This record gives sequence, C-alpha cells and structure tokens, in this order.
Amino acid sequence: MHRTHHCGELRIENKGEKVILSGWVQRVRNKGGLLWIDLRDRYGITQLLCEEGRTSEDILKVARKVGREFVLQAKGEVVERFSKNDKMATGDVEIFIEELNILNAAKTPPFTIEDDTDGGEELRMQYRYLDLRRPAVREKLKLRHQLMQATRRFMDSSGFLEVETPVLIKSTPEGARDFVVPSRVHEGEFYALPQSPQTFKQLLMVSGFDKYFQIVKCFRDEDLRADRQPEFTQIDCEMSFVEQEDILNTFEEMVKYLFKEVKGVEIGDFERMTYDQAMKLYGSDKPDIRFGMPFVELNQYAQGKGFNVFDQAELVVGINVPGAAEYTRKQLDALTEYVKRPQIGAKGLVYVKCNEDGSFKSSVDKFYGQEDLKAWAEAAEAKAGDLLLVLSGDIDHTRKAMNELRLKMGAELGLRDRNVFKPLWVLDFPLLEWDEETKRFHAMHHPFTSPKPEDMEFIESDPGRIRANAYDMVINGVEIGGGSIRIHDKALQQKMFKALGFTEEEAQKQFGFLMEAFEYGAPPHGGIAFGFDRLCAMFGGSDSIRDYIAFPKNNAGRDVMIDSPSTISSEQLKELHLSIK
Ligand code: ASP
Repeated sequence: MHRTHHCGELRIENKGEKVILSGWVQRVRNKGGLLWIDLRDRYGITQLLCEEGRTSEDILKVARKVGREFVLQAKGEVVERFSKNDKMATGDVEIFIEELNILNAAKTPPFTIEDDTDGGEELRMQYRYLDLRRPAVREKLKLRHQLMQATRRFMDSSGFLEVETPVLIKSTPEGARDFVVPSRVHEGEFYALPQSPQTFKQLLMVSGFDKYFQIVKCFRDEDLRADRQPEFTQIDCEMSFVEQEDILNTFEEMVKYLFKEVKGVEIGDFERMTYDQAMKLYGSDKPDIRFGMPFVELNQYAQGKGFNVFDQAELVVGINVPGAAEYTRKQLDALTEYVKRPQIGAKGLVYVKCNEDGSFKSSVDKFYGQEDLKAWAEAAEAKAGDLLLVLSGDIDHTRKAMNELRLKMGAELGLRDRNVFKPLWVLDFPLLEWDEETKRFHAMHHPFTSPKPEDMEFIESDPGRIRANAYDMVINGVEIGGGSIRIHDKALQQKMFKALGFTEEEAQKQFGFLMEAFEYGAPPHGGIAFGFDRLCAMFGGSDSIRDYIAFPKNNAGRDVMIDSPSTISSEQLKELHLSIK
C-alpha cells in the first residue's frame, strides 16, 4: 500500500495511529538533533519528524539525503506537535518517522514550488508541470473543473444533450483565419480546425436534437492579443423552436446557477441594452455597468461658441466623474497624457471642475462663460464637487477613446470591484459591418445570423442599417458569450451570402451542405456560445485566461514546454505533399 492517508488529512484525533504517507518534499529543516520534512500532495502538507538518538541511523541517513521535490513514502506514528501551526489544516500533528523510502529523487526545481514563487512567467511555462504543483495554480484548475461539472449538471437537468462534433472539418466563418491540416491521403487538400461547431450544431437542429450543448475546443488563427489563445474552450449551445427571449432566459438561468453553485453568489436579474444604446452611452458593445458615468453628448451646448476644436467635431461628449473636482493639475495632465497615447488617440482633453461654491473652472474658460459651463454640468447631472471630462472628434474614435477614459476613471475611483458582478445582455447588434479595407460588408456575428424581419427591406438599399437577432452576454465589461437566432430558410440564407459578397459558387462550395440541409425541414433555431476560459478567469477574479488553462500557449502562440509549433521532417512534408520555401 502506497499510503493510508493523504497529506491534508491527519488531525489530532488521529494521534497514536500508524500511518503511511506519500508525496513530494516541500522543504527540509535540520535543527540540532531534529530533522523535519514537509511532505506535500494535492491535498495539503504534513510534517514528518526524525530525531537523533530516537530515530534509527538508517532512517536518518536517508532523511539527510532528501532534497526539495523528492518523492517519498513515510511510515510512522501520528504524534501531537510540540509547537502547533494553526495556519495548516494538519498543523496540530506530525508523523514520527519509522520507515522512510525515497520513491524518486528530483533535480532541484528551477523555481520555488510555493504560491509566492521566484519563477518568472516564461520559466514557469517551460516547466508548467512543476508550476502546476503550486497550490494556487492547482486551485485555479480546480475551479475550472467545478465550473465544468456545474455546467454539465445544469445543461443535463435542462434537457440538453452533449454531442461531440468533429475537429477535422472545413472552414467555419467566425471571422478569424482557420488553422489547416494537410491531408496525406488526399493530395493538395486540407482540413480546417473548427473556429466553432457552428454549422454542426445547426445541422443537429435539422436532425431534431432540439437542445444541444458541448464543452468544446475551438481554434482561431488570430493575431495574438494579451488575453487570447489560439485554442480555447466554449460552452456551445443550440436550441430549436425558440425565440430570442427563450434563449436569453435559459442562459441567464445557467449563469445564475453557475454563480450560485460555484461561487456562492446570487447575481441579480440581467440588465438589457441595445447595441445602439451601449455605443451611445458607453462607447462600447461590452459596457462595464458596475458603475455609472454614462456619456453625455454636449454638441448642442458646446458648439457655436467660437471654440474651433468643438465646432468642427462630429461629436462632443463628456462624462461626469463624481467627486473628482479635487483632481490636481498634475492628475489632470496625467489624464490628458493618457487619452493622447497612440492606443487611445484623442487629441486632447477638456475638463470642467464643478467647484463647491457653485462656480466652474475649465480648461476652455477662454471660450465658455459660467452660464455655458453650467449648462454642460446640468446636462451631465453634475453636482458641486464633480468633474466633467470632455472629448471631441469623429463619432467612432471619440466614443472609443471616451470608453477607455471612463473605464480608467472607474478604476481610479475604485468602482470596478472584482467581487461585484453586473451582468448585462446587449441586444440588436447590427447584422453587417462595413470593412474599409476590403470595401465590403462582413457579418458582424456570422453569416447564419438572422436579420430582424422588419429591417429586411434595407437589404439592397442600406444593408448596414439592418439589425440582427443577435445578443451578447456581458459581465463587468467582459464579453462572456454571444449568439443569435439563425436563418433557417434557404432563400434568405442565399440572400445573406450575396450581401456578404459571396458568389453563388463560393457559397455553394463552402456551405452548400448547410443550404441543402435547410431544404429537408430545418426548424427555427438559435443558440449561443460562452467563452469558458474567460468565465473561469472571471470566477477566479483574474484577468488572465492563461492561468485557467492547464497547458496554455504564450503571448506569441507558442507552447514553450513542448516547443511547438516546430518544424517537421522532410519525409513528413513529402508525405503531405508540401514543400516549404
Ligand atoms: N458560433 C458562435 C461563436 O463562436 C456562437 C453562436 O452563434 O452560437 O461566437
């Protein structure tokens, strides 16, 4: 028998018992005639003890050889500790060693296996299997496991069937590049890895599965940003005979259930906002509504007073930062520098301080009198002691910049509390999005998203105006999930492909199978997919999805542990009918 107990198990009640423990050496302390070994496994740490004079020389010899991360088996008696440690679950006891076996020696690890490690990110990723020994890291994966199990419980009890869909497929249009896999058997032909199971889940609806889900890997060859992984996990779902409202209700319930089960948090009902409102009030399709500071459009108050910058702007927009009138010159300069950074790209920042005495002080006093500034303040519902921050320029850029500034102010004022969760549905996304580079429309969600029937009249005349039955779930400014009601009619789907600039042949080649399926009785259907890694990070109170993935890739899309991507042999290339320039 390797062990009778694990290393987190023994308590004072076990005093006097003979036990066997196995695990890794956390640390060894040798003081005078006493030698302690902290033995660690997944469940905790137990202290082992030997003592010169009482412990046999053979055992002491072994114990003195032991180093960090050796794998040991120790047999002995549970004894009460002389000095107890109330920070450890097993801190009342230790094991007086009667037999000690080294099951495996270990090289000294390249960083300390402690929550507070001295190892840098790259080194820890290279030795991820050692990093995973750290309790804090293991806890994150445990949280992931719990979320996964809770998801399955909810979906199962709600009548969803988990169906696996293939990984070697052909292109799915989620707006990224495909990873492709060359076929050895079919020269010159390629599989693509799924960007999502989108087309398959729709086919499952045609098959009558009614309610489908899958916790599934998706692959997108996108430019890497800080918090992106080329492969990631979705909770992917689809339902038949539903309208948008049914989907919103079902998945609101799911997310409430997950918060309750896994975090013990009751989150309230979800707010709802249209895409247009979100853009107008927050300059973002994923607003963080843990705090207010909505945008106030000031064109009517600020234009025509001789301030050229505002007069020429498409949009003059402000936010009211409560209680911030005391910001110093230095702080305001720092904010100006912040909005002028190239990533944000504003040309400057105008402020109005609402002084306690009812007067106003602004950076544009030359152009605006007290009455003018009062009108701004009233429009923004600013009170004495508040600070208005104003940006101007073309609508899209200005909203984007103001979104960043609003988030920054929310953070500076401590309003973005990680323990507060404010969920939101953003509804009525545009169906299409104009791409300046390619000079054509793209599906904002994907080409299977159904337009709002009442907007279909614009399909030829003004396609950009059509709204979709598409929705995103946003929590605390993070897009957690998104989906849509689908087109289930072949003719409409064809129209959609046409609007997206597909020729009939292209559409047929890429999605002919789906359009054909629609001719065999496709039910009305819709669905949603959640970014599972992101959900884990949110539950764990972290910004990084990488922490919640057992073996993640780095910022450059590399797995530095297994060294991938890597070259392949010329034989392999030949077999695959490939040559590399
Ligand atoms: N397939 C979509 C995505 O991955 C989600 C959906 O429409 O259900 O974003």
